[in-house]
Amino acid sequence: MAMDEKIEPIYDEVVRHNPGEVEFHQAVREVLESLGPVLSKHPEFAERKIIERICEPERQIIFRVPWHDDRGEVQINRGFRVEFNSALGPYKGGLRFHPSVYLGTVKFLGFEQVFKNGLTGMPIGGGKGGADFDPKGRSTNEVMRFCQSFMTELYRHLGEYTDVPAGDTGVGAREIGYLFGQYKRITNRYESGVLTGKGVDWGGALVRTEATGYGTVFFAEEMLRARGDSMDGKSVVVSGSGNVALYAIEQVHQLGGRVIACSDSNGAIHDPQGIDIELLREIKEIERGRVSDYAQRRAGARFRERTVDPNSIWELPCDVALPCATQNEVTGRDAKSLIHGGCQVVAEGANMPTTPEGIRAFLDAGIAFGPGKAANAGGVATSALEMQQNASRDRWTFAYTEERLRGIMRDIHARCETAADEYGSPGNYVVGANVAGFLRVANAMVALGLV
Ligand code: NDP
Repeated sequence: MAMDEKIEPIYDEVVRHNPGEVEFHQAVREVLESLGPVLSKHPEFAERKIIERICEPERQIIFRVPWHDDRGEVQINRGFRVEFNSALGPYKGGLRFHPSVYLGTVKFLGFEQVFKNGLTGMPIGGGKGGADFDPKGRSTNEVMRFCQSFMTELYRHLGEYTDVPAGDTGVGAREIGYLFGQYKRITNRYESGVLTGKGVDWGGALVRTEATGYGTVFFAEEMLRARGDSMDGKSVVVSGSGNVALYAIEQVHQLGGRVIACSDSNGAIHDPQGIDIELLREIKEIERGRVSDYAQRRAGARFRERTVDPNSIWELPCDVALPCATQNEVTGRDAKSLIHGGCQVVAEGANMPTTPEGIRAFLDAGIAFGPGKAANAGGVATSALEMQQNASRDRWTFAYTEERLRGIMRDIHARCETAADEYGSPGNYVVGANVAGFLRVANAMVALGLV
């Protein structure tokens, strides 16, 4: 999509001011391309330089994380927390531990988070953090020592009314436990509302583990419903096999669809009978194994190594695709393969998994394309429900919380549809999500003055 001529110089300045942060530039570009019609209707946003301000994080924290490995050697990683925007509530967004993490990754994720959190309709601002730590191949003790060192610096920036991190890639319930334990020890406060994604016995919420994957599927179901269809009987391809992917697979099966493939960074599995989710969860969550182990134990399933065929998963014919692994995993070529294979609906469980060329191909082909900001917002929305339960010292049932999540995803879908219609791009969920998320944050920023 072309960018409005009044917005183009703002984007150029973001690129100049944040050199080398290509994922951040990509995320900013995608939002700014949607905002031309908004500025025409709301001149107050230009007067108050809302777009310029929204692209600049309120605070960026970078810190050293020293720790001892099991051989007693000193290791040093770099930690980040980008507190992007607090107009709607405390900074809220996950922590990612992955060797590829640098400031540009955290800024792209934090920027996306601002609009996503706005779109949920809940009182949460946007932030994101992480470290270039690689948990793969590390012992549980090493992971614990790393988390303790990471929190020893981060704790001073957190608080239930200030900044509330959660998990993301490489940060699951185990890591949240070690991080929370260290926070509690340093502060001598059982401040449950300072982190979300906690275990259910110590302040966590039921459904938080499942929420991002389930929510992505609820969003896909809404997109299908808008076309007079449903998930029942659909053939589905899901990339990844981590937290988001596993629970997306589970929910597709609960709604009567069949997931025939998933993946990890080593390769993809194709299981034409439908993935056995119990077996996959046992391998991934208990044994911490790989998808190749699944193919060895499941008759009829095949494993394709990534080095042999990096894109095999998107070449399988399917009705629905759910990219749930990582950024830029669906290229323009992959999008064309999916379209060729009959795919009708794409919902992003991961953050920014589709390249700009891929998005263009889907939109041009009339595919219902749900961007991550909208489709994967169920995770952070359920984190906000966890914060609500922590504040009231209450615990809701699984069924009640799941129903709340379903309602939130339905509302997000409706907000996207309405904004897309109002701003001249009916059926375009990219425009709908960007505009609806932006309007909520921008209106709050105007109300709060120049801060
Ligand atoms: P996990 O670490 O649990 O899982 C990530 C999965 O993606 C793993 O299976 C990993 O494989 C796979 N993967 C990573 N890189 C590649 C690659 N290049 N090709 C194929 N597979 C790959 O992370 P999550 O499931 O929590 O997060 C996944 C995505 O969802 C991220 O984009 C995250 O930002 C987003 N997200 C997560 C939320 C949450 O609540 N957890 C909320 C909203 C968005 P391997 O094990 O080999 O690395």
